[in-house]
Amino acid sequence: PKIPIKKIDENLYEIEPFGDMRVAGRVYASPEMMEGLLEEQAPLQQVINVAHLPGIEKYSLAMPDIHWGYGFPIGGVAATDWQEGVISPGGVGYDINCGMRLATTSLREDEVKKRLDKLIQELFKAIPTGVGSSHAIKKLSKNDLKKVAQEGVQWVIQQGYGKAEDLEVIEEKGRMPFADFSAVSQRAIERGLDQLGTLGSGNHFLEVDVVDRIYDEQAAAALGLFEGQIVVLIHSGSRGFGYQICDDYLKVMSKAAQKYHLDLPDRQLAAAPIQSPEGQDYFAAMSCAANFAWSNRQVIMDLARRVFKHVFNISDANLQFNLVYDVSHNIAKKETHKVGDREKTVCVHRKGATRALAPGHPLLPEKYRAVGQPVLIPGDMGRYSFVCIGTQKAMEETFGSTCHGAGRLLSRRQAKKAGAGRNLIKELSARGIVVQARGKATVAEEMPEAYKDVQSVVNVMHQSGISLKVARLRPIGVIKG
Ligand code: 5GP
Ligand code: MN
Ligand code: MN
Repeated sequence: PKIPIKKIDENLYEIEPFGDMRVAGRVYASPEMMEGLLEEQAPLQQVINVAHLPGIEKYSLAMPDIHWGYGFPIGGVAATDWQEGVISPGGVGYDINCGMRLATTSLREDEVKKRLDKLIQELFKAIPTGVGSSHAIKKLSKNDLKKVAQEGVQWVIQQGYGKAEDLEVIEEKGRMPFADFSAVSQRAIERGLDQLGTLGSGNHFLEVDVVDRIYDEQAAAALGLFEGQIVVLIHSGSRGFGYQICDDYLKVMSKAAQKYHLDLPDRQLAAAPIQSPEGQDYFAAMSCAANFAWSNRQVIMDLARRVFKHVFNISDANLQFNLVYDVSHNIAKKETHKVGDREKTVCVHRKGATRALAPGHPLLPEKYRAVGQPVLIPGDMGRYSFVCIGTQKAMEETFGSTCHGAGRLLSRRQAKKAGAGRNLIKELSARGIVVQARGKATVAEEMPEAYKDVQSVVNVMHQSGISLKVARLRPIGVIKG
């Protein structure tokens, strides 16, 4: 059957409610992207499915990096009423609080180019990569892991990873308050003990980038960015700890959906009322995983700082390794948003979507209050990534959310096939990009051609006025899983 879609703006499409849909679907996409989506159908069908969730408010939303995911599409946003609505692990994803972090340095491209090989080698040595990567730092005791899970980044800073000011520029200050370690299984605990400070596999990376273009001078200055500057971009999540929590609770939620007689169009949308014991337990456990992920990125960043200091033989005062921002793109949050003409408490599911708060928002740190929240949108390891800022329009239209990446063009299998017989590391090196990866297969799966051009995705959100471009980053070195 054809999906009934209506164009309502240059880069915005609507699916009016039909059948048991509780709200409309809304998709931000260029006309060309929409053509592809209509042909593909499955991701749009998922937008429609999500619109059936009990308690969903306003719209089932999708960003231009939308693609098929477990239950919810990746690139999807859904807010549910905090009292009457449901929470769904499929709306968060397996990698709970997977997210992005950007740190600046005082270094310029020419200074770093001279020692780039050495830098990337040392980063690769210091930060474990790969599926089961472990032991970046001493294995945690169960009690230490409980502190990470419940106290978040604050605790890892006390252990010597980073500085107190970092908290101000991390979403939620690196700690979801509802975290309760007693909601986490023994299996998840075991998987988490030795994985703090590790990158993980495939799509996760630590990249050394050059700020190669500024779109908004004033915002760039507020963020501490200048042209030619070396910055570090980190993409990682909650590792085996979060994966196990998601897996554990999908079983719980599947039973809960029956128990509470939720009428869901897809079993993968398994959910529970937020206020039910099952919903509360998932939220408590998911919050533990979120705190683990922020702490993980904090440790990775500090390990990178130490490598920079060592390789360039430079003091902290001269290096100026400062955190710009850390933002999640796989999470469910308790937030206040305007619905109709009143403020409502909702549970915002962002699955492959990034928070993008407007200038003046009370949750922003003082230094970004005037410009808005920094949004970090990775592209691929061969072209570029973007730094943007949130807007008032995002608050009004998307529950303060925007896209999170380019999205895949080729499946992992197709990419591996396309990479066969090529030496991708050599190809990238010829373009001035040094790559260190655990496996050859990873590099093929993750080659630039495997992803869409992130610029087109970012432009859809920019032209829609949801998140605005501040700077473009160009990679010169990457470590991958
Ligand atoms: P996800 O979190 O959905 O797995 O991926 C987020 C995004 O990261 C992808 O859509 C892709 O655009 C981007 N990405 C994947 N690998 C790399 C990389 O090595 N470097 C950069 N800059 N971006 C990447
Ligand atoms: Mn991830
Ligand atoms: Mn991610």
